[in-house]
Amino acid sequence: MKHEKISTSSQRKTHSFSTRAIHSGYDPLEEHGALCPPMHLTSTFVTDTAEEMGARFAGEAEGHFYTRISNPTLDLLERRIADLENADAALATASGMGAITASLWSLVQPGDEILVDMTLYGCTFAFMQHGLSRFGVTVTPVDMTDADTVAAAITPRTKLVYFETPSNPNMRLVDIARVSNAAKMHDLLVVVDNTYATPYLTRPIEFGADLVVHSATKYLGGHGDLVAGMVAGRQDLIDQIRVYGLKDMTGAVMSPFTATLLLRGLKTLELRMDRHCQSALAIAKWLESRPEVDAVYYPGLESSPYYALCKTQMANSGGMIAFELNGGMETGKSFINKLELIHCAVSLGDAESLIQHPASMTHATYTAEERAKYGISDGLVRLSVGLEAQNDLLADLDQAFA
Ligand SMILES: *Cc1c(COP(=O)(O)O)cnc(C)c1O
Repeated sequence: MKHEKISTSSQRKTHSFSTRAIHSGYDPLEEHGALCPPMHLTSTFVTDTAEEMGARFAGEAEGHFYTRISNPTLDLLERRIADLENADAALATASGMGAITASLWSLVQPGDEILVDMTLYGCTFAFMQHGLSRFGVTVTPVDMTDADTVAAAITPRTKLVYFETPSNPNMRLVDIARVSNAAKMHDLLVVVDNTYATPYLTRPIEFGADLVVHSATKYLGGHGDLVAGMVAGRQDLIDQIRVYGLKDMTGAVMSPFTATLLLRGLKTLELRMDRHCQSALAIAKWLESRPEVDAVYYPGLESSPYYALCKTQMANSGGMIAFELNGGMETGKSFINKLELIHCAVSLGDAESLIQHPASMTHATYTAEERAKYGISDGLVRLSVGLEAQNDLLADLDQAFA
């Protein structure tokens, strides 16, 4: 394996984000001069001797032996993501849910308690509330926008703290440094879902988080043509998640083909995010001025309670907007139906703008009572601002209001 040459900390200091997103960890001259990294479409790896294979299995010799554990193409992607997140190591998985489940199955045991933010992506919520809790793990939702609430909720059984920032779907921001400080006083692990922000806008590890999980399906891939996940963090945690959570508990391995698409997507991450952020801010401001709109949730708006935190924790305000139309759920649905350019679809972070209704779609795993309790109103609409021309997007929204 060609690990050693890759992205030393001195390179991290000299090269900026977009340069590392394009080059980190790859030297064409080591691969016949191929500009683009080869795709190692192989399930298994050959050794000269049985002794050598045995040593790899025992972890005594370096080298790949089966793609569910490691593969050179996945390895390059993992090193690149680790570099971008400023983490020791990273792990590629088949989906965002694969990243989340492989991590949590590795880190908790029956009897443990975990604190989670009160709003989570729908399937993460379902995994916690209907999955982990069946195996003797207590899952306690708390409002993590207040670090004191987190500190007050910690008990002797608490093992880790888990949150998204910005949260899906309602754009709440959690102060990673303050929550991490509260957690560290009790030796808790801090796991952050960084899907909405991407490492270009926020690097949770720099604020004290131990692990970062991603749905790479979204901005990291960026083109709506793949499903993938990533985990980044401390080497010992990543090793544990690889050999237990990924290898044995979930088997949620990424295909080398998907890794190749992701490496391509990453090359334009910075460019794409700049455009997503610029258009989203303009659209959020425009929505705020419309009489049909009751509320707009976007951390780049001065009216947002997270405006100040956004300025210190995020390099820009992101490409996701949530808003509420007056008239609630029914108005929301008929508005979505009238849009022509903006598609009705779940997922986010693609070139195409996508709109959806969380209560009946991505967050239908919550009961109506749970949605009310955790701040996901029935009238909420979620917009992923794409890369189309801003004027065309505004015109489409305008005609749908008309
Ligand atoms: C989509 C999403 C996930 C799940 O990722 P998949 O790739 O769909 O499995 C997890 N967290 C957040 C915040 C998401 O938006």
